[in-house]
Amino acid sequence: MTEWVQATVVECIRWNDALISLRFEAELEPFNAGQFIRVGMDIDSERIGRPYSLVNAPHERPHEIYFNIVPEGPLSPRLAQLQPGDTFWVVPKPNGFLTLDEVPEARHLWLFATGTAIGPFLSILKTAAPWSRFEKIVLGYSVRTRNELSYQETVHELLESHPAQFQFVPFITREPCEDHLCQRIPASIESGALEQKAGLTLTPEFSHVLLCGNSGMLQDALIRLEKRGMQRHRRREPGHVSMEKYH
Ligand code: NAP
Repeated sequence: MTEWVQATVVECIRWNDALISLRFEAELEPFNAGQFIRVGMDIDSERIGRPYSLVNAPHERPHEIYFNIVPEGPLSPRLAQLQPGDTFWVVPKPNGFLTLDEVPEARHLWLFATGTAIGPFLSILKTAAPWSRFEKIVLGYSVRTRNELSYQETVHELLESHPAQFQFVPFITREPCEDHLCQRIPASIESGALEQKAGLTLTPEFSHVLLCGNSGMLQDALIRLEKRGMQRHRRREPGHVSMEKYH
């Protein structure tokens, strides 16, 4: 039987009408940056659970998840109404392989996220490991509109701490924008716009790519990267592109 433990809300951040970060205390088992936990609430006498990535680094407290409200969904609209002191449920054992210990040796690490899937990458980037392992790290973050570009303070702190090592490339796909890329991540790989913006080349020789988010993006980005001679990474068959489909 699934073991659940109680979590207590510490803070609820409303980025806009649909995007929420929930900070909470709970006795979780140790986790690796990039992993997710199962979050649940009792709804109509049934416990409904969904996976959410931890945004906090393993050494940081409180814990944090980032999600969008799916209006017709059973869980997220209710999670979004929780206030400090309210409780919900979590399965304390974290899961997932979108972690740096699954990434083979590479010189450059490229992280591509859409929407709320930036969470696991922020957890990774707030640890020391990537900065000692990779010469350059590029974070590409694709959202529809400018007001969905959450966690910019965290991104700026990372840019300030690692000015020569870290590149942040935001994508805004449904609003005109001059200072950001206005196309989707796969199209920008194809056109070379992403590499131009990052000042770095994606190559099988030097790069490892982690993909997280919209399943269409994962699929399309992998196709574009394969055209560059990169292959999906598997434990038994090392490659250059890692992704996790769990939603
Ligand atoms: P989203 O639907 O992924 O949309 C955000 C961006 O993705 C937009 O710029 C959109 O571009 C682009 N996009 C959509 N389809 C695409 C495609 N086929 N190829 C390339 N780009 C595409 O954002 P979201 O609703 O926040 O979804 C995030 C995804 O991450 C969900 O699937 C979620 O399950 C998953 N995830 C969530 C968490 C978490 O903890 N919450 C963690 C990991 C993963 P357009 O404007 O052009 O459509």
